[in-house]
Amino acid sequence: MKRIKFKCENCGKTENIPLEAVRFCEEMDGGDPLVPPRFECKYCGGIIRPIYYKGIYGYIYRWED
Ligand SMILES: [Zn+2]
Repeated sequence: MKRIKFKCENCGKTENIPLEAVRFCEEMDGGDPLVPPRFECKYCGGIIRPIYYKGIYGYIYRWED
């Protein structure tokens, strides 16, 4: 299955999240273009965001500091 690379805002570690889970999260958010899908970092409990992800509604989310 395809995975999307996410990065933690806090510790900087990366994690690959299954595309299916990312899409599910996005649907729950209603596809807000300003709010990327987020998950909890398994290392530190911080927020992880996609480095690059094109969403189901056509928005592109990029990692920006
Ligand atoms: Zn972390």
